[in-house]
Amino acid sequence: MTFMPSCRDVQIELTEYTEGVLPMSRRIGIWIHLLLCKACAGFLRGMRALPGLARRALTPPEAVPEAATKVLAEVQAALKQQTP
Ligand SMILES: [Zn+2]
Repeated sequence: MTFMPSCRDVQIELTEYTEGVLPMSRRIGIWIHLLLCKACAGFLRGMRALPGLARRALTPPEAVPEAATKVLAEVQAALKQQTP
């Protein structure tokens, strides 16, 4: 699954994921990752237990690394291939 984001990408974007502000193409990659990765699923559970301000404080400052942009492009390409 080449379009799946890395653990680091997921944890960087998890705040936006839980707030529902991520584009659908990115949410799908994170959702799949969370299904398969116990570490990130546990990270999500911990994050949901925190108030929003604390979550933002924990989010790494470099919010849009090149890796995430590359993954997004891969997700979009994969979604195009899957669309009938
Ligand atoms: Zn992970």
